[in-house]
Amino acid sequence: MAESARVAVGSVEVSVDHLIGGERVASAGTFECRSPLDWDHKLADVSRGDASTAERAVSAAVDGFDTWSALPVRERAAALRRLGDLIETSNDDIALVETLDMGFLHRSMRERLVARGALNFRFYADMAEAHDEPRWPARGTAHTVQRMPAGPAVVITPWNAPFMLATWKVAPALAAGNSVVLKPAEWSPLSASLLADLTVGAGLPPGAFNLVQGIGSEVGAALTADPRVRRVSFTGSPETARHIGAAAAANIVPFTAELGGKGPLIVFADCDLEAAVEQAAAQYEDSGQVCLAGTRLLVEASILDDFLEALRVRTEAHVLGDSRDDSTTIAPMVHPDHLARVEGFVERARAAGDTVVWGGRRRADSLHYELTLIEPASNDSEIVQREVFGPVLTIQAFATEAEAVDLANSTRYGLSAIVYTGSADRAERVGAAVRAGIVWTNTFLVRDLAAPFGGCGLSGIGREGGDHALDFHSDLKTLILADNTTA
Ligand code: NAD
Repeated sequence: MAESARVAVGSVEVSVDHLIGGERVASAGTFECRSPLDWDHKLADVSRGDASTAERAVSAAVDGFDTWSALPVRERAAALRRLGDLIETSNDDIALVETLDMGFLHRSMRERLVARGALNFRFYADMAEAHDEPRWPARGTAHTVQRMPAGPAVVITPWNAPFMLATWKVAPALAAGNSVVLKPAEWSPLSASLLADLTVGAGLPPGAFNLVQGIGSEVGAALTADPRVRRVSFTGSPETARHIGAAAAANIVPFTAELGGKGPLIVFADCDLEAAVEQAAAQYEDSGQVCLAGTRLLVEASILDDFLEALRVRTEAHVLGDSRDDSTTIAPMVHPDHLARVEGFVERARAAGDTVVWGGRRRADSLHYELTLIEPASNDSEIVQREVFGPVLTIQAFATEAEAVDLANSTRYGLSAIVYTGSADRAERVGAAVRAGIVWTNTFLVRDLAAPFGGCGLSGIGREGGDHALDFHSDLKTLILADNTTA
């Protein structure tokens, strides 16, 4: 591999350059990467890719696709398993870099999320190997369905949970036999660079995995516009999805879009109240920068006062602090601009007559926004209808199950919902009536990787997870052989 500019991020050396065709490649321009834990501290000047970088990366991915897709599935799976092993052995480095770069709680990264990244590669290695080509007889023929690797895939990720999301999206693309160009978000680009190093270490052939750093509207747009790209896998905001969808449409390229959420957390009077309150308070974690969070608390009127009092106590027990400190439960926000955006939502809510029950201001000495609860004047309030992506929950009371379902379904989003109830019948009814890609009852975030994952409405297009992602990254082909075909 060519020498690349590396900077020390904490105790970890991180390349600030792209990885293209197995080589580190620098751009003349750079963008600044700062730490949410100490905004005055510049972590790195990262290569700022442009249209020529995108062109070069897609060319490398075209070549890489020829080599990678031609390998037997078991060899590709073995390389992905090696990558999983390397992620595991690099656990502490990845966790530290992600914490410094994005602000993620170090404990969560160290104990859960890096391991989940390794699991993503192992899981898709198993899935690819286990796949049988469906075969059936019909009208004097044998039908067989094959998955053909689709070609180079562009994967574009957001700034929240950057490492976990990159591995979740890259793993099925590679497992399906596609080459990849990954473009991470410019607010948290560094853990993707560690992943790039590990793909080389795992022996992926040059060009099978490529990393391009830079600004979305610049190099991101150039990547998605390239007609040689055969799949675009995107996670981010609906606004960006519109641009990416237009570029994909121009090239007749399938794309998936995993977008924002405005999930309800519905609390029925028959539930385990303590567990429901604990779950509601947990929605503040990661400063609410979680697409799946249940940010709209819908509580049965008869228990509203008890719920509110218990939630206040539980919220006050949260510790806003430095993400490296294991006693911290709430990390700072990723970027001053995002903090200002969250602040803007709350100021507009106040001005519109919504009631700030607690919180509602920024901290003076860090990028934290106070944990906030808002009682909206109306279900049409902006704070109820738009994704804030910060530590801001709303609370509304309902009288009947039907009203709870109506409120749950009253936004344009449909990513996830959480229900707390003591009744299995109710769980089934409400689960069936809520429009969302996933509904958890009496639990949250537990999900088998084989399950479909994605949203309805503004929350996205397509499904990731299990076979769904492998199908997306493949072109399905039906082979039909007449029974009388002789050897
Ligand atoms: P964003 O849409 O601003 O950016 C996402 C990525 O797109 C970044 O890498 C960015 O550089 C790139 N990009 C921006 N403009 C582009 C363009 N014109 N062409 C190509 N790429 C472009 O989103 P964000 O602020 O980074 O992420 C937050 C959003 O992501 C929230 O809405 C959140 O809910 C959503 N999200 C969804 C999921 C999910 O699984 N559904 C998971 C995490 C985050």
